[in-house]
Amino acid sequence: MKKQFTILLLLTCLMFQACAQTTTSKTSKSTSMKPSLSKPENPYYSNTDTKKINIPNSEWKKVLSPDLYAVAREADTERAFTGTMWNSETKGTYYCAACGNLLFKSNQKFVSSCGWPSFFEQENKESITFKPDNSYGMQRIEANCGRCDSHLGHLFDDGPAPTGKRYCMNAISLDFVPENQ
Ligand SMILES: [Zn+2]
Repeated sequence: MKKQFTILLLLTCLMFQACAQTTTSKTSKSTSMKPSLSKPENPYYSNTDTKKINIPNSEWKKVLSPDLYAVAREADTERAFTGTMWNSETKGTYYCAACGNLLFKSNQKFVSSCGWPSFFEQENKESITFKPDNSYGMQRIEANCGRCDSHLGHLFDDGPAPTGKRYCMNAISLDFVPENQ
């Protein structure tokens, strides 16, 4: 009889523990949820949808600002040291300004003297794609958004360890969401 009681007590304890664990993991999940941006003028924009976007430039022209359109869809390059993003070390997440695709985390960023926001690693394999760019008599690698194929900047081989890569990005092509927002 005493043995049975002990087993019952043990089971109750275990069940309580299991319940307590579930509650804890639920709480930590809700606090780690990231805020997402919304752009009412741009229906293609989403920080969570990863479905590829394939629309003509005439459509992009309607939903992007003229400055962003020039960089994102016509591979224009903004002036160096534009804004404050290039030397910002605030913790947070960087998204494609045209479609909201997750591109980088702040721990993949480094302050480069080139004057553009620079990163040594992309968030995941699909987030950024590459193609050769031989414009202006230079041989460079163009970096594009993996979701909407918008121009982001270029990839160079003179970055810091551990990758040795330097993703040199146009600040206008990036949306930044601080960690504690
Ligand atoms: Zn994009």
